[in-house]
Amino acid sequence: MYKISNDKEKCIGCGMCVQLCDNWELKDGKGNPKKSKVEEKGCNEKAKESCPVQCIKIEEEK
Ligand code: SF4
Repeated sequence: MYKISNDKEKCIGCGMCVQLCDNWELKDGKGNPKKSKVEEKGCNEKAKESCPVQCIKIEEEK
């Protein structure tokens, strides 16, 4: 399992993650993961790599 989170203090609300991954939405003007625990990283990894302020975190959980 992977834990997906976003540092909303850093997030600038650009919407890049939303465009790249269907697990992301804008909530109150900030990127928000719809599911915060996922089996596979999938497109969340792409969103993380492309985030201009690198505020997306993906942590492996056992
Ligand atoms: S790509 Fe990064 S800065 Fe842009 S909305 Fe998503 S989390 Fe926020």
